[in-house]
Amino acid sequence: IKASVMDGDKFADEHAELREMSMAQSAFEKLQEERKSLPMYRYRDELLDAIEKYQVLVIVGETGSGKTTQIPQYLHEAGYTKRGKVGCTQPRRVAAMSVAARVSQEMGVKLGHEVGYSIRFEDCTSDKTVLKYMTDGMLLREFLGEPDLASYSVVMVDEAHERTLSTDILFGLVKDIARFRPDLKLLISSATLDAEKFSDYFDSAPIFKIPGRRYPVEIHYTKAPEADYLDAAIVTALQIHVTQSPGDILVFLTGQEEIETAEEIMKHRIRGLGTKIAELIICPIYANLPTELQAKIFEPTPEGARKVVLATNIAETSLTIDGIKYVIDPGFCKMKSYNPRTGMESLLVTPISKASANQRAGRSGRTGPGKCFRLYTAYNYYNDLDDNTVPEIQRTNLANVVLMLKSLGIHDLLHFDFMDPPPSEALLKALELLFALSALNKLGELTKVGRRMAEFPLDPMLSKMIVASEKYKCSDDIISIAAMLSIGNSIFYRPKDKQVHADNARMNFHAGNVGDHIALLKVYSSWKETNYSTQWCYENYIQVRSMKRARDTRDQLEGLLERVEIELIANPNDLEAIKKSITSGFFPHSARLQKNGSYRTVKHPQTVHIHPSSGLAQVLPRWVVYHELVLTSKEYMRQVTELKPEWLVEIAPHYYQLKDVEDSSTKKMPRGQGRAS
Ligand code: ADP
Ligand code: MG
Repeated sequence: IKASVMDGDKFADEHAELREMSMAQSAFEKLQEERKSLPMYRYRDELLDAIEKYQVLVIVGETGSGKTTQIPQYLHEAGYTKRGKVGCTQPRRVAAMSVAARVSQEMGVKLGHEVGYSIRFEDCTSDKTVLKYMTDGMLLREFLGEPDLASYSVVMVDEAHERTLSTDILFGLVKDIARFRPDLKLLISSATLDAEKFSDYFDSAPIFKIPGRRYPVEIHYTKAPEADYLDAAIVTALQIHVTQSPGDILVFLTGQEEIETAEEIMKHRIRGLGTKIAELIICPIYANLPTELQAKIFEPTPEGARKVVLATNIAETSLTIDGIKYVIDPGFCKMKSYNPRTGMESLLVTPISKASANQRAGRSGRTGPGKCFRLYTAYNYYNDLDDNTVPEIQRTNLANVVLMLKSLGIHDLLHFDFMDPPPSEALLKALELLFALSALNKLGELTKVGRRMAEFPLDPMLSKMIVASEKYKCSDDIISIAAMLSIGNSIFYRPKDKQVHADNARMNFHAGNVGDHIALLKVYSSWKETNYSTQWCYENYIQVRSMKRARDTRDQLEGLLERVEIELIANPNDLEAIKKSITSGFFPHSARLQKNGSYRTVKHPQTVHIHPSSGLAQVLPRWVVYHELVLTSKEYMRQVTELKPEWLVEIAPHYYQLKDVEDSSTKKMPRGQGRAS
């Protein structure tokens, strides 16, 4: 009996397997049909010929024509991967992951095998990987280990028009290695027509244009400026849903919080519309959206329903969602801005450029005629919007990039082959900061500290904090803090109906006014003590997903500590040691309390405030060190820890003099103290 049961099982198994295979087969065939229907497909052979013939090729094609998903596959089919990997860079992590997932499906292989992706703190590749999608920042880091990219046969710098900082630096580096690696093929691909600029930069490289098919798009403007673009966007989306013919809607918003708010309000208002209205499926997409949910935006909309995608800029050119017929464009995006004089960086909601507005509108006309609703006036469009977005290199802190270039042995930064050079003040500011952090010596050469810092894929101040933890014998605690800080502000969960409970739970970690950094450490260690319990996260209003990401990040930092030969030492009870390590990295971010409860930054005096979410918001210590500034209604310091002013002079004597940190409180100290160093 047993034997026959087993046989029966086996039969059933085989049967299921066969059925699965034939289903997989038809899905696979369908994907192959889809591949052939992309505009790119007709130019496959011509493109391969051009790549064969020229070392560097600029490729231009409308978003959605198949550049990112198809070209690497063509190269694989043509045998390029026999000589080395094909690497394809993306400015955004979600794009790298999602595109790699799609290509692995199209090739019928498991993600992480032949097709993989690599983003910061997450490497989904293996020895088998021949098509590697990665963020531009990751390829930049690969230069540190492999300065000639010997393991690659082709590098495709994709989404070149985005002009991110990393992409701009990559341009200079790949152009350089192409000279002594004639076998390396270089593809620069872009969705916009400013290809001439790329061609000029790459010594007049030929331009391969893939003729786009774009249907007409009707542009609608508002008659008067909108006071509240978020509300206007929601109202417009619902109006489209109720009055317009079938077709999905794409709304461009500026970030995760805004998208979550919009989703909540929309759900609420849909309920108010009653049951006669067709189903409206809301799909958010932003950088930190969990992977499982990312796939949802690509699922076909069921018959009779309508999909509304709430997206950040990621849907402008990086991701193409089929079926979009209506675009709502409030005209804003979140953009970094940097003041090289003060060294302050902030993320601001900023009007987009005309080029962006046109890309956004174009998303509605991909598969048929579309409509774009601009929530600003025609006058605004023509008179107020810049033609193009300023490349990131001209509006950001360069310390990270300068440290990277120095570690690659590139010393003469002023003469680096930039496509558009950064402001020289910003370069000087970066050199100054790296010098202050002891990453560079007076001659601008990399020090041992700097070499160690460069191993960490983090901002220099965070890397310095980690390297300094060796001295204070608390590296174990510090990498937990660094990992938690890298996750951003999605650790604590604060549902609207349980805010009091959530705030109480959060305050437990702040007992003793230890400051936000140490509170983060406590969250991490408590979670670890429960053996990474999900239940514990629920009970404490902690987002388990963020914690898992922190754990992965921490694991990688632990590996890097070993690489730079820093011993892993836990010292959780010596708060002073931990705070001194933090100060060693963040001393340029120190601030002192004013009489009115605001703070003044010490080096470049500016008025700032403790963010209301900080555990120290009610405590107001005299001196603090902060992780970052965010500008909302005021300039806020986020993640704040108390420090003793004499530490500044002790830790950074080249940066702070006694007079900087003397105030009534230090004067009250017994003579000699704080003056000792
Ligand atoms: P381009 O790089 O030229 O903008 P892509 O290669 O990204 O074009 O996209 C080609 C096609 O593949 C598009 O129709 C897009 O909808 C589809 N596609 C890309 N990524 C995914 C995905 N993750 N899931 C489903 N379809 C996808
Ligand atoms: Mg693309």
